[in-house]
Amino acid sequence: MNTILAKIDYDDPDLSQIRKAADILKRGGLVAFPTETVYGLGGNGLDALAGKKIYEAKGRPSDNPLILHISDISMLSRIVSEIPKKAYAIMEKFWPGPLTLIFPKADIVPYEITGGLETVAVRFPSHKIAQLLIKEADLPIAGPSANSSGKPSPTRASHVMYDLSGRIDMILDAGATEVGLESTILDITSEVPVLLRPGAITREMIEEVIGKIEVDPAVFLKPSKDLVPKAPGMKYTHYSPKADITLVRGDLEKVVQKINSLTLEDEKKGVKVGIMATTQTKDKYKSGTVLVVGDREKPETIGSNLFKILRKFDFLEVDVVYSEVFDESGEGVAIMNRLNKSAGYKYIDV
Ligand code: AMP
Ligand code: MG
Repeated sequence: MNTILAKIDYDDPDLSQIRKAADILKRGGLVAFPTETVYGLGGNGLDALAGKKIYEAKGRPSDNPLILHISDISMLSRIVSEIPKKAYAIMEKFWPGPLTLIFPKADIVPYEITGGLETVAVRFPSHKIAQLLIKEADLPIAGPSANSSGKPSPTRASHVMYDLSGRIDMILDAGATEVGLESTILDITSEVPVLLRPGAITREMIEEVIGKIEVDPAVFLKPSKDLVPKAPGMKYTHYSPKADITLVRGDLEKVVQKINSLTLEDEKKGVKVGIMATTQTKDKYKSGTVLVVGDREKPETIGSNLFKILRKFDFLEVDVVYSEVFDESGEGVAIMNRLNKSAGYKYIDV
């Protein structure tokens, strides 16, 4: 299949391209589209066959459910069987935006989309192109991240091209995504809502609106058979570049020293080393391929660049990566959740 790559201007979108993409979706095809978090791989969320195509294109395990994307709140009642009371305040505050909510599903949503679950994940993205596309298709659009399963999520159309070219019908390219990390996922089907995946909308922000929530322990700890994440997709290895990543933790000066000495040792053995640095530390590294992921003072820059930098290490064909770690507060919880997974929770403490 030849994948159409269509550039689209955020501020002045060519509506004929949106119509073309929406037609593909209505006919059961697949279109990758930008959102404020990462690029999504869209298909008709009410069509089991389109769901199957998404799993095939991504190589995604079929028990890992898809998120349905809507373009206005009225679409919600078609796909859920109940809207818990607490949901209203949350939707009012955070939708449209990077927050996914779990609802009991309506019969119309196929089990092929929900990975066999009785619940369905729903998001109302704030990205204008995503909204226009969903509106034009007039369907809830299933949209997992548009990467090959296991790779870092795509934050640019070129990432989608690299992973899925020839496997999907079209990519709408509106440039780099803003948040760069996937949406926060909140399960509101239980009495006390549970945060299943951290993102740019933090626990604190949600608690300000609805009071105490719980956080799935798997957000912080390595999943195992005794600690199965409540979001099925969170149990899989993820976000992994080809290189072996090690996180170096401790006092920042000592971390830099340690990474410098590890790099020298590795380079003596002919190993190509990548270093994930920050604005604050980049000039302190003596050798290796140093990439700056962001500014410690502005965690959102780290969130926004993390997947791009992980993919860049692949492109540069480094064998190992040493990465600094980041403060686990606010959006830092989401950053460290993704980084832990990409490193397989491998740490050196200094
Ligand atoms: P992605 O679309 O690639 O960002 O992945 C979607 C995430 O949402 C995966 O981690 C899924 O396990 C999770 N998810 C989707 N639907 C549900 C659901 N009904 N219950 C719990 N987690 C879900
Ligand atoms: Mg994904």
